[in-house]
Amino acid sequence: MDLNLHDVQTSKDLIDSPLEGNVEELVIIGAGPAGMAAALYAARSDLSPLVITGTQLGGQVAISHLIENYPGFIDGIGGAELSDLLQKHAEKFGARFEFDQVDSVDLSGQPYKIKIYSREILAKSLILATGASPVFLGIPGEKKLAGRGVSYCATCDGFFFRGKDVIVVGGGDSALEEAIFLTRFASSVTIVHRRDELRACLLLQQRAKENAKISFRLNTIVTEVIGENAVEAVRLKDVISGGEQVVPTQGVFIFIGHRPNTELFTGQLDMDEQGYLVTDVSMKTKAPGVFAAGEVADPDYRQVITSAGMGAASAIQAVRYLESIQG
Ligand code: NAP
Repeated sequence: MDLNLHDVQTSKDLIDSPLEGNVEELVIIGAGPAGMAAALYAARSDLSPLVITGTQLGGQVAISHLIENYPGFIDGIGGAELSDLLQKHAEKFGARFEFDQVDSVDLSGQPYKIKIYSREILAKSLILATGASPVFLGIPGEKKLAGRGVSYCATCDGFFFRGKDVIVVGGGDSALEEAIFLTRFASSVTIVHRRDELRACLLLQQRAKENAKISFRLNTIVTEVIGENAVEAVRLKDVISGGEQVVPTQGVFIFIGHRPNTELFTGQLDMDEQGYLVTDVSMKTKAPGVFAAGEVADPDYRQVITSAGMGAASAIQAVRYLESIQG
């Protein structure tokens, strides 16, 4: 669900937006499960929060094929559908969504300043829910062939690989889940993992191993993606023997983890050694009235339900903060 930011869309709710120069009570940056849940809770406290969505409405969940572990959805729910429901739920209670990207955030004084493509916004409090982005392998050919056979989203691109042979890189939940999804289209899916032990949960391991279209290359890394205008092959290296092999393939799906989207806050907020925002148990950052929720502040759980929970908690804290400064 990528949006063209230069066609800045205005949701109907923005008609009620405070005039430029006025100070928003609460601005939420990011519209994944954390941002959406925060918006719902803040809206139900009558804050009329403004959500700046960024480029990917719904965050990573919106590009997930199926969410099977969000409580209450016994048969699972499509990521895009869940994301849509979360947004509608927040809007129902008065949250406003603005489809724009944040260029900069100035936390040096209050009110806080948020510069988006179309204007500058002032806010008394902020919830940072900017999520995380896929990690790249950083190997020759990867960048050049991105979108031409190299992909980071099976739900988005799997359809183009009908009847083709693809490889999936990674051994975590994402890699196995997406590999299983890809077997709907591809003739064969080879999971390439750098160790002899998978990181994914046992249920996914079992499902992948039972799937006749999936095979494994363990103790193996991809050192090059080969092709002129489209992916033609990969160079694999056995990390035990050091032996190399060029294996023909038409698709390379890379799921080797995520990095928190914290560039906007560099030098302004505390981050851990991996770049995650540091908060206390109340989701507070070191800036008064600035909270962080979801994957941007969560190196550990990174689940839809935990992100949504953090979003709700941060909104509750934002409400308390705003009450405290209003006396
Ligand atoms: P992850 O759990 O961090 O797994 C990343 C995988 O990529 C690991 O197997 C890792 O290998 C491998 N890797 C990392 N860097 C690499 C490199 N440079 N070259 C080759 N391989 C590399 O990431 P994830 O699978 O995206 O999952 C992230 C979080 O989301 C996890 O908490 C996961 O449980 C959750 N998640 C849950 C579900 C679900 O519950 N249905 C679905 C998707 C994701 P090593 O194992 O050797 O470190």
